[in-house]
Amino acid sequence: MRSSTSRRAVWWLRRDLRLDDNPALLAAADEGPVLALFVLDDALRSPSGPVRLAFLYRCLRDLDERLSGRLCVRAGRPDEVVPAVAREVGADVVHIAADHGPYGRDRDDRVARALAADGRELRRTGSAYAVAPGRVTSSEGTSYRVFTPFYRAWKEHGWRAPAAGAADPDWLDPRSLPGSGAAIPADPDLEGTRLPAAGEAAARERLRAFLRDSLAGYARHRDEPAAEVTSRLSPYLKWGCVHPRTVLHELHQAVTATSDGRGGSRGESGGGSESPGDLSGAAEKFRSEVAWREFYADVLAAHPSSARSDFSDTLATMAHEPPGDAFEAWKRGRTGYPVVDAGMRQLLAEGWVHNRIRMIEASFVCKDLHVHWTHGARWYLERLVDGDLASNNHGWQWTAGTGTDAAPYFRVFNPVSQGRRFDPEGEYIRRWVPELRGLPAGEVHEPWKRPGGPPDGYPLPVVDHAAERREALDRYEQARKSG
Ligand code: FAD
Repeated sequence: MRSSTSRRAVWWLRRDLRLDDNPALLAAADEGPVLALFVLDDALRSPSGPVRLAFLYRCLRDLDERLSGRLCVRAGRPDEVVPAVAREVGADVVHIAADHGPYGRDRDDRVARALAADGRELRRTGSAYAVAPGRVTSSEGTSYRVFTPFYRAWKEHGWRAPAAGAADPDWLDPRSLPGSGAAIPADPDLEGTRLPAAGEAAARERLRAFLRDSLAGYARHRDEPAAEVTSRLSPYLKWGCVHPRTVLHELHQAVTATSDGRGGSRGESGGGSESPGDLSGAAEKFRSEVAWREFYADVLAAHPSSARSDFSDTLATMAHEPPGDAFEAWKRGRTGYPVVDAGMRQLLAEGWVHNRIRMIEASFVCKDLHVHWTHGARWYLERLVDGDLASNNHGWQWTAGTGTDAAPYFRVFNPVSQGRRFDPEGEYIRRWVPELRGLPAGEVHEPWKRPGGPPDGYPLPVVDHAAERREALDRYEQARKSG
């Protein structure tokens, strides 16, 4: 859409690296020619870790290509850079999608004040969520602390249909501005981690492939790490290469098309034999997982301190150990517990870990090593390509027993029985732990019990799970008594 008045606008993108279904960009395009701006902000870059940064830079390169080199990249503090660029462009309004995280909210308030001092405006349109944090509240007007009632209210609230198509404004060329731009940085050293294809087209392709090939088996197999039926959309959602509203819309379309008998072709692993009923059950399950992301963002917006400290203080006096050698072994996938090591090696190799395995990993750190969840959460954020403060730190707290509707502390995941239950044949373990590839299913979960011990190069368990479980429960009792 072109404006008749043709004022210039700045579209400052942060976690919405896409042209399609982008309300903030549409609002900018409505004003006139648009400058697309990304600010390399050290306050966000330094804690991000090489894997997430490399993925971000690749997404930015993809976007820049789509804009024929007209993505304006500047380095510095946003409250200095953004007003300076708006001045250079002659834009009265800078358009953004609202950020509800603790840092993002403060940063945007600072930028809004700096722009206002210059007679300009920061205008928020949309967010990174189908329902913006803070919108769904209980009948008392408070934010939810438990997922199930949130989910009910979230579905009732509903979300808008995706905006049709990609915005197509006249893009302003940053090379015509007086200020000096920065290059999109080269990828940092990934230490061998392989990343998924970056960018908006890759995100849409991933979504299409998931709906076509895997959705039907999602409800039944999503907890099996070897099955690979989950969407792997998390890195794309993290950077807004696709919006969750689009994901939910396409999900709905896929189910409706099938129940109308217009299912079209389904891939081999998608189970062409699944009935529409199965598919709508799978869709409901998938929708609820997307809603967990929305819930945790909502919790973080209402309780910003829960990013760094316990959401619930019932275990505040719990005794913890400092991270030592066993924690280092965990980080490198050398604990001697196969399913734990497989997960940590997947993290190092792909920057991504299956959700069931994330829970097993977190339980191992908190309850077998007695290390505070914040240490494990920090390592995850350092290595995850989808690392997200709200989902990660609340996911860790769920397992640690200090989060929203947390798993009770006395629920200690047994790494051997979890492995046997969710990876019965040891397929996932063998995929990631080459030392164990020759072992049959009967031995692969407890290689130390083989005559002669584990195969060469694979460690003995760094702790005795049964003993550490008792220790965890003792500490829990102490914390409860003194809490
Ligand atoms: P799918 O099963 O296909 O789910 C679709 C989408 O729903 C995901 O992409 C994600 O956006 C959302 N989702 C699914 N499960 C959850 C969940 N339990 N909590 C929040 N959102 C969810 N997710 C992140 O995006 N970033 C993180 O840093 C992160 N850290 C985690 C740490 C721990 C200890 C735990 C237990 C979970 C963490 N999760 C995190 C949630 C979840 O593990 C991942 O979102 C999921 O594994 C991503 O894979 P997928 O896209 O294939 O998921």
